Amino acid sequence: MTIEGKSVYSGVAIGRLVIYQKAENQIKRTKITDREAEIKRFEEAKDTAGRQLALLYERALKEVGETNAAIFEVHQMMLEDMDYTEAIVNMIRTQEVSAEYAVAMTGDTFSEMFAQMDDDYMRERAADVKDVSNRLVQILQGKAEGGLDTDEPFILLADDLAPSETVQLDKSKVLSFVTRHGSTNSHTAILARTMNIPALIGADFPEDAEGKMGIVDGYEGKLIIDPAVSVLEEYQKRKNQEEEKRRLLQELKGKENVTKDGTRINLYANIGNVADIASVLANDAGGIGLFRSEFLYLESNDYPTEEEQFQAYRRAAEMMAGKKVIIRTLDIGADKQVDYFGLDKEENPAMGYRAIRICLERRDVFKTQLRALYRASYYGNIAIMFPMIISVAEVRTIKTIIAEVKKELDAEFFPYKEVEIGIMIETPAAVMMSEELAQEVDFFSVGTNDLTQYTLAIDRQNPKLDDFYDSHHPAILKMLKMIVDNGHKGGCWVGICGELGADITLTETFLRMGFDELSVSPSVVLKVRQQIRSLDLR
Ligand code: PEP
Ligand code: MG
Repeated sequence: MTIEGKSVYSGVAIGRLVIYQKAENQIKRTKITDREAEIKRFEEAKDTAGRQLALLYERALKEVGETNAAIFEVHQMMLEDMDYTEAIVNMIRTQEVSAEYAVAMTGDTFSEMFAQMDDDYMRERAADVKDVSNRLVQILQGKAEGGLDTDEPFILLADDLAPSETVQLDKSKVLSFVTRHGSTNSHTAILARTMNIPALIGADFPEDAEGKMGIVDGYEGKLIIDPAVSVLEEYQKRKNQEEEKRRLLQELKGKENVTKDGTRINLYANIGNVADIASVLANDAGGIGLFRSEFLYLESNDYPTEEEQFQAYRRAAEMMAGKKVIIRTLDIGADKQVDYFGLDKEENPAMGYRAIRICLERRDVFKTQLRALYRASYYGNIAIMFPMIISVAEVRTIKTIIAEVKKELDAEFFPYKEVEIGIMIETPAAVMMSEELAQEVDFFSVGTNDLTQYTLAIDRQNPKLDDFYDSHHPAILKMLKMIVDNGHKGGCWVGICGELGADITLTETFLRMGFDELSVSPSVVLKVRQQIRSLDLR
């Protein structure tokens, strides 16, 4: 059976299909007859959850350090909490309901109870207890949680994946993902590129695909379920060819990003978290052009503390060993929703309360991040970039806040370096004001994803509009030229960190326009380098 979809990243994946279900909203009150058997199911699920959390703790310890890993210890403790487990067992026994239902209901009750407590620490536990309950429900329903309890790598099928869910996938297990919904320009699609795996959206797979063999063809946008042996062999061949191509690209490692006529450009990589740096180094990017720091917030159940952020940024700076690491301050809102911010639902979230707008109002959150960034600056070559800027006044306010932060750090004897300050140019207002903005900052980085959405008035999240989202629209190309010229006039260097930067049909155009840097997904760095080296601008 072949299902059509839209490819967001090319390549071929072959493996078992696993359907990912969100635990919430799917638990019905189901009557059971054998209470003791149901309690046993719960006890077994609890043991499995304990093992998963111990594994997660180990992995997090290696990838994000002790402070960030601690959350999994808290979850383990919660799992062992007598009040919580007894409430579940009691509910199964007295109400004769399924373990799933008892866990979900108890989870909700405890989470509400915590949320209403006076104590900050206890209030923060509300999200944790929900998380633990969701984990138990998933185990009880026999669903793989990011593939954690299947040993074999698999192809993930989902209705939709939020960016926060995508970042939590076990990248060593997910060969590819296929969703029914989602749009080409969403962050979920961007994450597939970072993970370097083929991905399809808009593919209406049947429920009975679970457990079957599947092939994802990211070139043609196809999901093949239960393929014939001959088809499997054909795709295996393609996969091998692909690996050979990738191997050849490896030969470009260590080579310069220079055209035949000697025009040079910096080629950096975009990342979502510290773990992605392995891929940045493996693909020989010259630096990090966009560290989407909001993923630190999305991966967490509560505001990441200054210390947690400091550790992450410091590790990034150290791992890149003196190469530039451009960290973008928190860019949440729109498709990147973080529950604990308690943001209201909006009619037009893309044009709503997001990114720098939140930071300028929530000074506590903003300052915590800036303090962590400046403290980490001491350990490498960090630059800071601000998203969604629309005016000079915003940049001036940011600079005042930075001055306050530095003063605080001085008083506390924290060492830091002077760092480059830049802004994303991703609103038409910023383009029109680029001449003035260039007077205020050290660099510009063009966010073509949002700039295209705002210029063409096309919601990047709306799959119906994918065909209208013309990233080569002359309006965008004219803007790019204007941004480079105005940036250079004001002494700024200018780069592109939106997805368009990786479009090799435009590499020559970017070089001719005079861009100084392109920042792309780690997996395509070498492909862009190959393109640059093939060009002759004479
Ligand atoms: C952009 O808008 O182009 C960009 C790089 O930022 P994000 O995709 O995270 O919004
Ligand atoms: Mg953006």
